[in-house]
Amino acid sequence: MLNGDVYDVRQSAAALCFPTEALIDGVSVAARDGTRFANISPGDGRCLGEVVAGNAVDIDAAVAAARAAFDDGRWRDQSVRAKKAVLHAFADTLAAHADELALLETLDTGKPIGDASTVDIPLAIDTTRYYAEALDKIYGEVAPPSPTRLSYAVNEPLGVIGAIVPWNFPLHMAMWKVAPALAMGNSVVLKPAEQSPMSAIRMGQLALEAGLPPGVLNVVPGTGEVAGQALARHMDVDMIAFTGSGVVGRLLMRYSADSNLKRVSLELGGKSPQIVFPDCPNFEAAAQAAAWAIFYNQGQVCTAASRLLVHCDVKADFVKRVIAVAKTIVPGDPLDPSTRFGAMISEAQMNTALRYIAIAEQEGAERLIGGSRVRQDSGGFYVEPTIFDAVNPNATLAREEVFGPVLGVIEFATDEQAFAIANDTVYGLAAGVWTASLERAHTAARRLKAGLVWVNGWDSCDITMPFGGFKQSGFGRDRSLHALAKYADLKAVTFTLGAAA
Ligand code: NAD
Repeated sequence: MLNGDVYDVRQSAAALCFPTEALIDGVSVAARDGTRFANISPGDGRCLGEVVAGNAVDIDAAVAAARAAFDDGRWRDQSVRAKKAVLHAFADTLAAHADELALLETLDTGKPIGDASTVDIPLAIDTTRYYAEALDKIYGEVAPPSPTRLSYAVNEPLGVIGAIVPWNFPLHMAMWKVAPALAMGNSVVLKPAEQSPMSAIRMGQLALEAGLPPGVLNVVPGTGEVAGQALARHMDVDMIAFTGSGVVGRLLMRYSADSNLKRVSLELGGKSPQIVFPDCPNFEAAAQAAAWAIFYNQGQVCTAASRLLVHCDVKADFVKRVIAVAKTIVPGDPLDPSTRFGAMISEAQMNTALRYIAIAEQEGAERLIGGSRVRQDSGGFYVEPTIFDAVNPNATLAREEVFGPVLGVIEFATDEQAFAIANDTVYGLAAGVWTASLERAHTAARRLKAGLVWVNGWDSCDITMPFGGFKQSGFGRDRSLHALAKYADLKAVTFTLGAAA
């Protein structure tokens, strides 16, 4: 279907059937009170359809279905071999519908179809396969043996997991939660972001087709305020696995405290620094990385390197290189396979980026490129790649997450100064350094307070490495085998031997 031709992509998009209903207990249903919301496509501002806006009653039904599925063991008690086969079939089914899912993702988010089809959907499938492969390799522990006692510790699934995900990588983020939660034997109620519900709903339908029993994975679209809050306050939900903003992360912890002390894992925002030292081994590669680390996905990436720290000796030349790359990143139609930079998720998010641009100018930063809304005739929400120089480390642009295509350049003179500026943030998600010195790189890796540190590359790891933040970037890890632990409780079992004698 996606053969690289604009016309074909458009035709395929026109032929798509948009998923709009909730999926509860294996059945596609409307909200009990009939409420729906308009699903706007950010590429051209048109309404793609009226999607179910779930409320507390719908969440209650989904949690009841998930609980029943967990308690009767229809998934949890299947053999590891059977569960593995179903998760592999699930990945195969996603792969068979990869083109459709990529189109849904692009129409829902405004991201380029090239990114959706080569990054978002393949990574969502990889995640599913990784946890399918992992699930029969999870062992417990046996305590040191004794003639009178046998003790072991075993991981048990928590029960009902509420997954609340954002809109920047809708299916990919959903699978970071859903796949390990299912691999551990849990049931799930997924609440996708209201801006991007379609791939999650379709994924739920495909899971059923692949053989996941009804009720094990439920998808309830709706607003965060209503559906998200109802899920996070629910007395029968054992855990909320969340990716999103710090503001909502704080609310989730309150909801947990006010309800049943459910576990909460939080993947939150960032203000990630990328540091270019004068001994950078490849300035051209670093400039490419500096530009794409902020402009990929229109800057709507939690790990976006929104602060570029450059040594004073190399700054002038390096910034020129970054500008040259940025000039090649031109906002375009998300459905055109040659587009590499699409629309922002919504009018509100576009206005947020424009507001931060105005604040940066008011606070005295020097705008080098970009700064405006473009492609307004399309009806969509586009902001051009924007770079500011001479950003004060205390300025708003250096401290607050924009979640848009806005880069701030900050100059430094010594390594100590670079580490101090890099760590002077409430966030701690990712950081990068460019240097030819092993010693400097190792020192940086130790000194930078971030959950992910990349040396001479940006975002250069994959599903095999844990993902998550330090400080106010959250806690708990997605990806890797470490992610499995948060969907389980550790039970210690002890047999006293010889009691019968
Ligand atoms: P958001 O926090 O507004 O929304 C995320 C999800 O939370 C959505 O599904 C939303 O409906 C829901 N929600 C909103 N209010 C809620 C409430 N009161 N109760 C329960 N749920 C509620 O975030 P966003 O704008 O969708 O996403 C952008 C943010 O996500 C940025 O801060 C970004 O850095 C962060 N993010 C982090 C990661 C990571 O892995 N660390 C990845 C992607 C995005």
